[in-house]
Amino acid sequence: MNRNLSIESVFTKSDLAKYPFLKETARYLSSLDLQIEDLTSSGMSQILDRAMERVTSAIVDFMVRPLIGVQGNKYIIKDLQKEIISFPVAVMLVSATDNSLIKKRYALAEAKQVTSELNSESKELVLKIALDFGWRIAFTPSDSAFEFILYFSDFLQNASHLHDVKWKLINSKLSEGNVYLNKHDVVRLLQEEIKRRIEKRFVTISIDKYPPEISELADKLKVLAAENIGQTETEFPKVVIQEAFPPCINALYNAASKNHHLPHIGRFALTAFLVNIGMSPESVTELFRSFSDYNERLTQYQVEHIAGERGSGTKYTCPQCSILQTHNVCKNRDDICKRIYHPLKYYKIKSEILPQNLPEKPDQVTKK
Ligand code: SF4
Repeated sequence: MNRNLSIESVFTKSDLAKYPFLKETARYLSSLDLQIEDLTSSGMSQILDRAMERVTSAIVDFMVRPLIGVQGNKYIIKDLQKEIISFPVAVMLVSATDNSLIKKRYALAEAKQVTSELNSESKELVLKIALDFGWRIAFTPSDSAFEFILYFSDFLQNASHLHDVKWKLINSKLSEGNVYLNKHDVVRLLQEEIKRRIEKRFVTISIDKYPPEISELADKLKVLAAENIGQTETEFPKVVIQEAFPPCINALYNAASKNHHLPHIGRFALTAFLVNIGMSPESVTELFRSFSDYNERLTQYQVEHIAGERGSGTKYTCPQCSILQTHNVCKNRDDICKRIYHPLKYYKIKSEILPQNLPEKPDQVTKK
């Protein structure tokens, strides 16, 4: 392919604000020589707010809305400098969460936003962005039905992640090692490339200790993610953390540990909660051993039934808060309780907030 077809890679400041993942943006930012400590200064609060907005909308709405204003009859990016700087700050905030779901969600939301912008850009700008990724790409002669030719290995690197049959090499027009594509297809392939570049940034950031203000914001993002990223995408921690139990379950657990009587609904809620967060039925059975009415076979049967290991195989879930409130099991409600409707949701949120790598404590029960 004739590499002389490459167009000089000079972007406008508006391009850098719309496409902040570009190498040229990184060069621009390094000339500003920003340090992580600068982010917590009062002069940077607007940048930090905008960075939080970027990540928040990625988590909640699966998109990153640009800061748009109107000039005459045109839409423009409102504050170019803020928009450019807020991107690496947002990447740093996501990295500070140390949460793979947030990282994945943010990279994809930014990449999708770029796709919608790029579809309405000129093919010259699309080409410049593709060249920024080192793609071997060029325009086709003007009489071609396609607009671009892309070297097949660059095509495969990105198309291999796409499932539609149209992305199979065998279904593409191929000549002399180049795949013929229209602008829309190039933009779709760029989405994959952009997502990967953003994900790589998370790996390359190495900050040993974040300022407390940044850690606090990262905690807020983790709570938001626990509330908004679907249950199927999230997992409970690999150890059972009593510190993350909701107050109602904590009261039941402590009462059971001290052989205090539990009402039927309390036993059921505690058992269903524990088996759902990953405690083995044997450990749960053990918890009830010292009860005066303990019957090993019966307790084992009941616990295994709730865990879905007997009968129909259905795993029961803990009753939701409104039911526990009706039965007077809801106790010592705290701030997290105000945001949730189910004790398992409470546990998910609290275990996300607690520091990672908790030291082993007597109240921390390892999953069997
Ligand atoms: S609000 Fe829900 S999670 Fe909180 S203590 Fe009451 S029942 Fe438990």
